[in-house]
Amino acid sequence: TNTLLEIRDLKKSFSITTGLFSKPLELKALQDISFSIREGETLGIVGESGCGKSTLGRCILQLIAPDEGQVLWLGQDLTRLPGEEMRRKRQDLQIIFQDPLASLNPRMTVGEIIADPLRTLRPELNREQRRARVIKIMESVGLLPEMINRYPHEFSGGQAQRIGIARALITEPKLIVCDEPVSALDVSIQAQILNLLADLKDEFGLTLIFISHNLSVVRHVSDRILVLYLGRIVELAAGDEIYEDPKHPYTRALLTAVPIPDPKLARQRNIDALRGEIPSPINQPSGCTFRTRCRYAKPICAEKRPALETIGNARLVACHRWQEIEVPEEAVLGA
Ligand code: SF4
Ligand code: MG
Repeated sequence: TNTLLEIRDLKKSFSITTGLFSKPLELKALQDISFSIREGETLGIVGESGCGKSTLGRCILQLIAPDEGQVLWLGQDLTRLPGEEMRRKRQDLQIIFQDPLASLNPRMTVGEIIADPLRTLRPELNREQRRARVIKIMESVGLLPEMINRYPHEFSGGQAQRIGIARALITEPKLIVCDEPVSALDVSIQAQILNLLADLKDEFGLTLIFISHNLSVVRHVSDRILVLYLGRIVELAAGDEIYEDPKHPYTRALLTAVPIPDPKLARQRNIDALRGEIPSPINQPSGCTFRTRCRYAKPICAEKRPALETIGNARLVACHRWQEIEVPEEAVLGA
């Protein structure tokens, strides 16, 4: 299958002003980000809050301009497209946000919200054609056509997210970036929305980027998973590999938060559990930036940044010691 999107050496920093007379500080949000996505694939992007996930999602859509690097969409570099062309291109690349109610204009009806992208992107459609499309999309996401004249505040969080999804789908995109699409929802609703996204992916032949701080959320929807730590890729592998055989200590730490009813894994879990806070992206540790929280750290980890190595069948890991970190026997037996 085709490569839909290729990210090359992406870099993004923000300048932070702390006081009137102090020099601005550089917050390194993303560094050396390279990966690609195949058509029809679902790529999960995970990491704690503040690790650069949302910034990456927004850089892909050019909602934030990266400082360096390329975002190649079917070979065309989106970072170099003039604004007007990029706006048109956005019918192919859409986004769903974390807080559904906050991302919907409270003064517009559901129908107006969903139809909104069509006004600029498909001006040739008349009112009736727009309405017919809106109703069709509403049905696809599980909203009733008679809801078309209601306002966002009349909806629950889960239904509001369905409106957000309908708005993203109305332009018939190829790719949707889902930025923590269920984090703000009740746990009981989360599975419904995840299942809906999986169904829509099949129905519309979508490619998805699925951003979450929670590995158990991306687990069932992702073909591959990219793990970010302090703005860098630390591991990229197939979903099964990430769950069954994580290589990077940070991935192992994130996995300890995923509930598995297996007492044999408990001991290893305690060892790997995430300790301490994520360091400030303004003042990052030397060498491996995970070393301040890594129980496997050795002196080399402070001296040298681990390269992102290709191991096995196209998986990537950035750790000096990945080969030495053993899964204890009882954990293997229990797995
Ligand atoms: Fe831990 Fe060292 Fe690997 Fe970084 S390079 S994850 S500090 S073992
Ligand atoms: Mg975020």
